Amino acid sequence: MRNKTFIIKTFGCKLNFSESSTISRLLSEHGYILLKDNFSSVDFYIINSCAVTEIAEKKCKQVIRHIKKHYPQSKIILLGCFSSLDNAFPVADQVDLMLGSSNKMEILTEIDNLFAENYKHKLIRASDEEAFFSSYSIHERTRSFLKIQDGCDYFCTYCTVPYARGKSRSDTINNIIRYAKEIVANNVKEIVLSGVNIGDFKTDKGENFLDLLTELQKVEHLYRIRISSIEPNLLTEDIINLVLNSDKILPHFHIPLQSGSNEILSKMKRRYTRELFADKVYEIKAKMPYACIVADVIVGFPGETEALFEETCQFISSLPLSMLHVFPYSKRPNTVAANMDDHLPNTCKNKRTSLLIELSKQKKYLFYNENDQQISKVLIENKIENEYLSGFTENYIRVKVPYDNAIINEIKTVKIQKADENGICHAELLEL
Ligand code: SF4
Repeated sequence: MRNKTFIIKTFGCKLNFSESSTISRLLSEHGYILLKDNFSSVDFYIINSCAVTEIAEKKCKQVIRHIKKHYPQSKIILLGCFSSLDNAFPVADQVDLMLGSSNKMEILTEIDNLFAENYKHKLIRASDEEAFFSSYSIHERTRSFLKIQDGCDYFCTYCTVPYARGKSRSDTINNIIRYAKEIVANNVKEIVLSGVNIGDFKTDKGENFLDLLTELQKVEHLYRIRISSIEPNLLTEDIINLVLNSDKILPHFHIPLQSGSNEILSKMKRRYTRELFADKVYEIKAKMPYACIVADVIVGFPGETEALFEETCQFISSLPLSMLHVFPYSKRPNTVAANMDDHLPNTCKNKRTSLLIELSKQKKYLFYNENDQQISKVLIENKIENEYLSGFTENYIRVKVPYDNAIINEIKTVKIQKADENGICHAELLEL
């Protein structure tokens, strides 16, 4: 009965990718047939959407229009952050089923219903519940994204995620360890811990993120654990010391800065000052000079004057950051910032974005070349050019080595060389 074909299209963050992967496995285990094509005529499409920016939302709407136009016989199921927000209502009549952030785990039943005779309802969104949908990605990449936490209680004034994903909640440590063992049994060597606000990980038993990391590093044959983005106020000295003393938790920190101006941080309702952020960066670098530190920055927040932007630029220039992820501020409906005065024109936001991207390139080049001739371990990943394979060092430097099928998904010791014009370092394999 279920042998129907589907394609899943995923937008947004690692969390969405881990959830899409779990949904695909669930449906495949129950007889539905996943096609890996980009677009084709299938029985149904699943769109796992993102709502972090206006552009992400637009892309999702474009895909819906494309499917409706070219594959009108395919049913469309919309889920994810965009689907959970009220601004998705206008697309409700273009899709066959919309699931919210906390009832997406019922997707198998709902898809069965969708193909049943006399199917009636299509909008069955539920959100902001206690429900936790455990998930991890596998097979798509050499690394696996393991979801440990969902939702957020911070309500930063620009952010729509707490409305889309509900309050902060975490999986249990036992579950996470069980999934980590399943991932490792599939010969995956690196796990990236994923969530909305992973530093806020907490269980009913009172365990926190440090407890989780401590337990996770005991999993046999799990060689590499990457902490994804962690809020600066939640990055404790104990966590930094654990990374310092661990041979599994990688020296790669992704810390959202968002602005180098305390005035803007306060308007964003971020829970730290630039001084606290700087303290964290210097603490990491004092203990692990080789560590990679990546910062997110939002430019063009309402009220960001030239002087305040300049303050951000100078602050970032002064810090030993390895690279930046730069995002122009995007006005999201129903957020506090959307109703603030002094929104900036796109031309100004784009100009500031370009300036910070340039600064990021300089930082990255400097960081990569500081590592010239360093010995490091690389997890060899996919083929990038005919004669090369690429992979990341423990401290997140992308390197390339001569192509050899036998070393894909192996951890190899290399000597890093200078970065090329594409921002990738050549590396000399020190073992075969
Ligand atoms: S910490 Fe702030 S920016 Fe991050 S998800 Fe929560 S509300 Fe959004």
